[in-house]
Amino acid sequence: MTEAAIWLVVLLTLVVASSVALWRSGSGRYRPPSFLLAMAAVLAQLAASAVIVVGACWAYQRFSPAWYVPVLAATVGCVVVWFVLLMVVLRFTLTETVRAALAAGVASGCVLGFAVIPLLVIYRTYEVPTNAMAPTLLGRHFVGRCPNCGGRAVVSFSEVIGQKLPAEAGICARCLQVRPVEHVEERASAGDRIFVRRLATPRRWDIVVFLSPGEGPQLYAMRLVGLPGESVEVKEGGVWINGVRQQPPAEIAGLRWYLPDGAGTPQFATERNPTPLAANEYFVLGDYSPSSYDSRFWGPVKGEDLRGVVSAVYWPPRSARILPRH
Ligand SMILES: [Zn+2]
Repeated sequence: MTEAAIWLVVLLTLVVASSVALWRSGSGRYRPPSFLLAMAAVLAQLAASAVIVVGACWAYQRFSPAWYVPVLAATVGCVVVWFVLLMVVLRFTLTETVRAALAAGVASGCVLGFAVIPLLVIYRTYEVPTNAMAPTLLGRHFVGRCPNCGGRAVVSFSEVIGQKLPAEAGICARCLQVRPVEHVEERASAGDRIFVRRLATPRRWDIVVFLSPGEGPQLYAMRLVGLPGESVEVKEGGVWINGVRQQPPAEIAGLRWYLPDGAGTPQFATERNPTPLAANEYFVLGDYSPSSYDSRFWGPVKGEDLRGVVSAVYWPPRSARILPRH
């Protein structure tokens, strides 16, 4: 609620400032006759731009060209809408249209500059440190080919020896199977950079950022599976809450939570030892289950150690997307 209110104030200020800039920038009989008409023009421009941006994102996902193509197309589209709106509908001259564009641009820039402060209250950015959440969120990794489906698979990067581990398996982004990966690239790829919503209330299956209760104060991103007051069990490849198997969301329906033989002994949420969560405790698991060091080993996360819910990946461009909530 607080988050929505902050966004509303930022957007309203943006619309009012741009409308004033537009209203003042025309001259003589071509100036919009009222502030309200200027505001309607700005709102029409925003609505048209939103349609263009959503269309560009859809085309990017559908046809997947280089990432700068939809950005360029959306920018050109928005500029064209602006010129058509001002020159055809409001009957501005070319000079007035350019002047109005500059004035509205400067006004919007100033508003967004001030908005950085409230937006910092809502969002934080992090770089994903490990591959515990692969293939959903990636730390530093190598890309290869899945032997099962031919899809894109990722192999974790080992900081310790500075190269990929020869015997290590990877996880496929398409079929979610863990297998020895083929045709692994020589060069490591950087980890994902993410936006985290600090004020969001965490729900089951959200990916949360938290301060690890293990050794050293380190921030990790993992999937929240157990909420306060629940009893958690990880068995038969699934998550069981209060004795009932939970259905994961569609995009990770093929995932299995398990540990390979000899991977260490989990202390929590095991088949014979379900973990009850106290009023302020949460249980988190990594999507890359066989190599994830998560709540199964070091136990629940305290509420005060949660830092927020991951809402989007913003870098690198090929991974950039908004993460769905459930
Ligand atoms: Zn696959």
